[in-house]
Amino acid sequence: ERKQLHRLRREPTRTLDGADIKLFANAESREDVAEAHALGAAGVGLYRTEFLFLQRNELPDEEEQFRVYRDVVLGMTGRTVTIRTLDLGADKADRTGLALRDEPNPALGLRGVRLSLARQGLMEAQLRALVRASGYGPLRILLPMVSTREEVRAVRTMLKRVTEELRAQGCEIADNVPLGAMIEVPAAAIALPAFIGSVDFLSIGTNDLVQYLLAADRNNEALTSLYTPLHPAVLRLIRDVIRQGVKRGKPVAVCGEIAGDPHFAPMLLALGLTEFSLHPATLLEVRRTIRHCDLSRLQANAPALLRARDRKAIETWLHDNAPQPW
Ligand code: PEP
Ligand code: MG
Repeated sequence: ERKQLHRLRREPTRTLDGADIKLFANAESREDVAEAHALGAAGVGLYRTEFLFLQRNELPDEEEQFRVYRDVVLGMTGRTVTIRTLDLGADKADRTGLALRDEPNPALGLRGVRLSLARQGLMEAQLRALVRASGYGPLRILLPMVSTREEVRAVRTMLKRVTEELRAQGCEIADNVPLGAMIEVPAAAIALPAFIGSVDFLSIGTNDLVQYLLAADRNNEALTSLYTPLHPAVLRLIRDVIRQGVKRGKPVAVCGEIAGDPHFAPMLLALGLTEFSLHPATLLEVRRTIRHCDLSRLQANAPALLRARDRKAIETWLHDNAPQPW
């Protein structure tokens, strides 16, 4: 069985009825990137840069960041790499003094793109490092915790300035570095038409989206039965975001943990998802599941999924739509 799974490294992620699905990798280290490459990932869909800032006392400078990002790009040999700007906050305690310490509600505090915009020097160094790395292969920039159009536009302005400066200095950089937003704050998902025109791509962060949508702390063990994507509000919102992306020609991925759970793959396909971003550990299992799915059948059953009224009904749908055992 392990051997059979291993063989899938070189196989396409294609449904029974011939639809090609992209499996990108979530990564935060060199090892993850090497593994993603070996497993035939379409690229890196979420490179978390937090680790660069944790467990140390000084901030990494532009040069150090540049080398790390460049190596991710080189490691993927021409496949697209999506690097997320810093997603720190009081919820992930750094020792550099960057994030605030004692916020009463860290999950609702100065984190993600909010922190980056509040520390312009930090943001600028990270953008410069990213744009420089774009000279080595296809790179996209992803912003965490976006809740307003202004945030995207502020970053876009800074990105433009940084790009012009680097070009003037003679740096070899990409003509255009795509800028995308994580959809993990409900307001961003609901008001998507207001700012989808300002982004080049989207990535749905279901770990946080579920937390904020259900007002259920993702780390609170007393809430594990409430903290679940199997809620009608979550499914409908994911479906709507994907629809709008399709309508506007903007790629949409899901990069939360649910994308890495083979059990959920038929549900995500039914909701219209064509791009998954997941940890390499389960990439082959998800590929195997997708290869046993009939996309047109799942799409035909999507209305039933969206009509499900509670977790139990959604679980029944999952059970009824699981691909045949292989
Ligand atoms: C998410 O929120 O779904 C996500 C992918 O980001 P993180 O888990 O790093 O918050
Ligand atoms: Mg998140």
